[in-house]
Amino acid sequence: MDRRSFLKSTSLVASGLALNSFIKQSVANTSTVQLPDAKHPLLLNFNENSLGMSEKAKQAIIAALPNSFRYPDDARAQLVTNIGSLYSLSDKHVSVGNGSSETIQATVAMLVNKARKRGVKIQLVTPDPTFNYAELYSLPLGVQITKVPLKADLSFDLVKMEQIANDFDGLSMIYLCNPNNPTAMITPHSQLDSWMSKVTDDQFFIVDEAYAEFVEDPNFISAIELVKKGQKNLIVTRTFSKIFALAGLRVGYGIAIPEVIAAVDEFLSIDNTNTAGAVAALASLNDKPFITHSLKSNNLSRKIVETALNEIGLEYAPSQANFIFHKVNGDVKTYKQRMADANVMVGREFPPAVGWNRLTLGTPEEMAQFVIVLKQFHQKGWV
Ligand code: PLP
Repeated sequence: MDRRSFLKSTSLVASGLALNSFIKQSVANTSTVQLPDAKHPLLLNFNENSLGMSEKAKQAIIAALPNSFRYPDDARAQLVTNIGSLYSLSDKHVSVGNGSSETIQATVAMLVNKARKRGVKIQLVTPDPTFNYAELYSLPLGVQITKVPLKADLSFDLVKMEQIANDFDGLSMIYLCNPNNPTAMITPHSQLDSWMSKVTDDQFFIVDEAYAEFVEDPNFISAIELVKKGQKNLIVTRTFSKIFALAGLRVGYGIAIPEVIAAVDEFLSIDNTNTAGAVAALASLNDKPFITHSLKSNNLSRKIVETALNEIGLEYAPSQANFIFHKVNGDVKTYKQRMADANVMVGREFPPAVGWNRLTLGTPEEMAQFVIVLKQFHQKGWV
């Protein structure tokens, strides 16, 4: 696809009218789509928003640069306030991290310290597979890790997780990633509420909503609603790395009641927010058209991939994020290598979900390229 038709297609994305014609035009008419090459590989292996950051974020960084020799206090304080008001909460409900990774790390450290002070054991109860930073930060602190495999339909086995937490003699940290990485599936609030709204001193929930901004399924309700009701044993983490595409600037945050935030903040690196990241995050929050455009683009990309997966007959999980988990009908490592040889970097397998691969949804143009390569693989009998 040449640049002119690509521009046309992205403006159609903006108008929201393009779906069928775009798929017909760019996927069916494969001769017009340019394939990736060594100089222009397709990077579909990490989950940043492939559109890149908002122009307003870029402008904010440039404007803030001359004063960036100072500490980031003002920009950071403003960011805390604006995140709070986004959810009609106070500054004291917000903890800004150097990416949400730091918020997860500080929460784990806070809970390990709490268990130590109480003289009780601590475990992490986590689905498997899921995003593993809570596990990685727990391991060096001697936390017992209890992994609960996903059910056959790739959903969380919440009954088993709750049972394991109830049976534990000590403090359980429960990590729930919603939507889950790598499946991109949501856990409906109707399934979470009965367990999560139980408040006990022995169980603490870390709900990771890194991809929540992509979700359109009304069955998803953010756990921030429970924080608003004053739930004590919960922190919800969010990030500017995904839909806002500020991954390299490292801004994330946690939402919890003020007592939890104060306890988590003790374990954060002091002055953890860089000025560029803070002003870019502030500008991104205000740039609603950028979010709308990103969502439309992501939905179109998903449709392009789903259409191809349906045609080929490859099973996939219902995605509510900017990636999709699909079967490859064969060995995933071989598939990944063959894709890399075709200059397409796809994600990876997440055992114990063997035979499935995580694919990041790039721009519609990128996904049109991906689909051609995938169909070529199918013709060769590789998928
Ligand atoms: N949570 C999930 C589910 C993720 O996928 C990631 C990054 O890949 C993170 C948290 C960490 O994001 P960051 O530290 O950039 O905010």
